[in-house]
Amino acid sequence: MLEAAAELGTPAREGMDAEREGKILEGAIMKWGAYAQIDIAIEEMSELTKALLKERRAVGTANFDDRLRDHIREEMADVYITLNQLSLIFGDCSEWEVYKLERLETRLKEAGK
Ligand SMILES: [Mg+2]
Repeated sequence: MLEAAAELGTPAREGMDAEREGKILEGAIMKWGAYAQIDIAIEEMSELTKALLKERRAVGTANFDDRLRDHIREEMADVYITLNQLSLIFGDCSEWEVYKLERLETRLKEAGK
């Protein structure tokens, strides 16, 4: 888990650099419009929610298998892609992200006392 955490923020995405990603995301927004892409973001977040619930429901049952977790990863990818489009539409949220992470860090420290 800690090894995976160390890799957060620098995902290995062979064949996909930031410039190419930006062109694709911007191209989709220009082609179909911001609100269509916002609608897709909403849809993808819903699909991730559904995949997470489906995996949770299957834990400890005969329905549980690795495909459920792979489906979660697939929906996570969709959500990351649409979140990056939201960043292009609404602006970068890195400052908020750092603020929220630091707040969580403080809560963790307080919970450890
Ligand atoms: Mg999806």
